[in-house]
Amino acid sequence: MATTRKSTKASVKPSRYDELRHMLEDRRRELMNEVQGRIRDVRAEGDREVLDQGESSEVDIQEDIEFALIQMKSETLNKINEALRRLEEGTYGNCFECGEEIAEARLRALPFAVRCKDCEAARETAERRERLMAQKRGSSTLFFDMSS
Ligand SMILES: [Zn+2]
Repeated sequence: MATTRKSTKASVKPSRYDELRHMLEDRRRELMNEVQGRIRDVRAEGDREVLDQGESSEVDIQEDIEFALIQMKSETLNKINEALRRLEEGTYGNCFECGEEIAEARLRALPFAVRCKDCEAARETAERRERLMAQKRGSSTLFFDMSS
């Protein structure tokens, strides 16, 4: 593999920039439609005539779920706006660890990924090792304690 280092500043190529921008904007539009659709649904539910006790509490639960979903999607929307802002700055889509570009396919699957696949895998391996070490330390401490 070539090891030519790209300059770290404004390293997002125009085509990649456009692709990522479209991807994020599509997602934003989708989410906005969903959020608006759900808000309309909840309002429509509220306009229905008064139901008996059993039914209305079911509607309440349903509404709670709807609101939770709306809230979740709104948070995702904020993240997308944040990502678009970072894209403008040229800091979106680059690995937090090694600074290399995160593959577009990965960003499509995980738009808020901050590490490239390699760094993510390395981190997971390191975490697994860390846990294993902690376990070993734990058991050797226990052994030590028992023998003393
Ligand atoms: Zn990386």
